[in-house]
Amino acid sequence: MNEFNNEVWFVGAEMSPLVKAGGLGDVMGSLPKVLLKAGMNVKVVIPYYKKIISKNLIEIKETYPAGKVNFGEIPFEFGIKTGTAAGEIPIVLIEQNHFFDRDEVYGSHGGVCAYKDNLWRYALFAHGAVYAMRVLGVPLIAHTHDWSGGILPAVVRQTFGDKKIRMEGGAEGILNAKINKRVHANGLRPALVFTIHNLGYQGVYGMDDFYDIGLDFKYNSSESYEHFGTFNALKGGIKLSDAVTTVSPTYAGEITTPEYGFGLDGELRNLKEKGILKGILNGIDLDYWNPATDSFIGCNLNLKKDKYTLEDYGEWENFKLKNKKLLFSKIGLEAKAAKNGRSLPLIGIVSRLTEEKGINEFLNALFNWNDFPFQAVILGSGKDYIEEKAAYLAKIYKDKVFTLTGKYDEALSHKIYAASDIFVMPSKFEPCGLSQMIAMRYGCAIAAGDTGGLHDTVSDIANEAEKKPSGILIKHKDANGIAWALNELYNIYAFNKDKWSGIVINSANKHFGWDDSAKIYENLYYDIIDK
Ligand code: ADP
Repeated sequence: MNEFNNEVWFVGAEMSPLVKAGGLGDVMGSLPKVLLKAGMNVKVVIPYYKKIISKNLIEIKETYPAGKVNFGEIPFEFGIKTGTAAGEIPIVLIEQNHFFDRDEVYGSHGGVCAYKDNLWRYALFAHGAVYAMRVLGVPLIAHTHDWSGGILPAVVRQTFGDKKIRMEGGAEGILNAKINKRVHANGLRPALVFTIHNLGYQGVYGMDDFYDIGLDFKYNSSESYEHFGTFNALKGGIKLSDAVTTVSPTYAGEITTPEYGFGLDGELRNLKEKGILKGILNGIDLDYWNPATDSFIGCNLNLKKDKYTLEDYGEWENFKLKNKKLLFSKIGLEAKAAKNGRSLPLIGIVSRLTEEKGINEFLNALFNWNDFPFQAVILGSGKDYIEEKAAYLAKIYKDKVFTLTGKYDEALSHKIYAASDIFVMPSKFEPCGLSQMIAMRYGCAIAAGDTGGLHDTVSDIANEAEKKPSGILIKHKDANGIAWALNELYNIYAFNKDKWSGIVINSANKHFGWDDSAKIYENLYYDIIDK
C-alpha cells in the first residue's frame, strides 16, 4: 500500500543557506519557505554534506534505518535523517559519507573541476530520496532540479509505477490543507515536476555508466536518458516528468532554439508544443537580501519602506558612500576622485567565472581602456584562465581594482552589492540570474547581457518606451559591447546626476520577491494532480 502525504518535496543538490554553489541553492532555500507560509506542506531533500553544512543551521530530529542500493556489483548503504533547516524548513538529509562528506559540492573551482563520480553521487541521492518516500510517506509532488536531480524521475517510476496520482478537482484543498493528511493509493506515483536552472549542465556521461546506477534497463532509450549515444541525466529528467519549468519566461523561449538549446532544443520544442514547458521567473528572498537590515554590511540603509521616491536619493547616496568606504578599508583600496570631484563609480562583480558569464569579455574591455574611469571589485571562482586574468587586472590597476578569486565568500558578496554603483553581468545566456535582482535591491545600475532572465528583469535605458530604466541591456555581448555600456553608464553617473538618481531609485524599487511566482508554482502543482 502506498501511503501518500499531502506534501511537496523539493529534491535537489543545494539549499541556501546550508549549501550553495549558485542560483539553484537560492531557489531551494527561498521558494519552499514562501510555499510553507502559504499553507503548503513542504520538505526539502538534500545530500548530507557534513563538511559543508554548518551545524548551527540544522537541527536533526530523527534518524531512520539505513537503505541500500547496488551500483553494478557494489552495494552502497545510505542513511535518512529528518529535522529542520534555518529554524523553520522541514528537511530530509540523505547521508552517505563516501559520496557527500567532501570539501566541495560538485568539485573544486566552483565545480569546474567536477568530481569524477558525480553521476554516482547524484544517482545515489535519487535512490536515497525515493527510499525516504517509502519510509516517511510518499509526497503528492516531487519537484526536482537540474541534471543532478535528473535520475529521480526514473527511480520514482521504477519504484511506484508509471501511473501518476490524480485528485480531480480536489488538489487545492488537499495540497493546501495546512494540516497533515494521508491518502492511500496503491500502484500510483507522485506527480513529477522538473526545473531547469541551467541547460548548460546536462550530466552527460558514457552510455556504459547507465548500467552502474541502479536503473531499470528500459530507461536505456532515447525516450529517456539516451541521447545520440551518450547518457544524458537532464534529458531523462525532463522526458520522465509531468511538468517542466525553467526560471524565466524569456529563457523558456530561448532554449527551444538551436542557439541556446545545447542539443536539447528539439526535445524542448516538443515539450513546449505539448504545453509541458513553462517559464516561471525566480525571486529572491527579500528578507535575507534587505539593505535596511542586512547584517553582513557595515552600514544599513536608513529607510524602511517598500517604494522609494527621488527624494530618497540622498539616503541612497549616503548608503553607497559609507559602504564603499567600509569595503575599501577592508580590502585595502582607496576611493579615487573623478575630474569633477565625485568619486569614481565602483563596478561590482559577484559571479562564477565561466565562459557563459561573459567575464572574460568584460576583462578584455577593461584591459583595452586608456584612462580607466572606474574602480572595480571582482569576486568569483571558476576557470583558471579567467581567474588569472582577473587577478592580473588587479595587478595592473593596483589602486583601482581588487580581485578575490577561487573563493565563495557570502559576506564579501553582500558588501559588494551594497557598495557598488554599477553591477556588471554580461552573460551570454542567463536562465534567470539572481545577482542582478540582488544588485538592483541594493540600488545598483546594471550592465547586463540582453538574454534570458536579464531581459525579463532589467529595464533598459536604450529602450525609449521604458519609463523606469534600471540599467543597460547589452545586445552585442563582446568586449566592445560591454565597453559601450560601461561608457554610457559612466557618462550618466558623471554628468547627469538627475538621470543617475532616477536609475538608482528605479533599481531599488524593483522587488523580485517570490509571491507572484510561488502562486504560479502552486497552481502548477494543483493542475498536474488534477489531470
Ligand atoms: P548562477 O546560478 O548561474 O551562478 P545566479 O545569478 O543565478 O548565477 O546566482 C548566483 C548566486 O551566487 C548569487 O546569489 C551570487 O551572489 C552568488 N555568488 C556567485 N559567486 C559567488 C562567490 N564567489 N561568493 C559569494 N557568492 C557568490
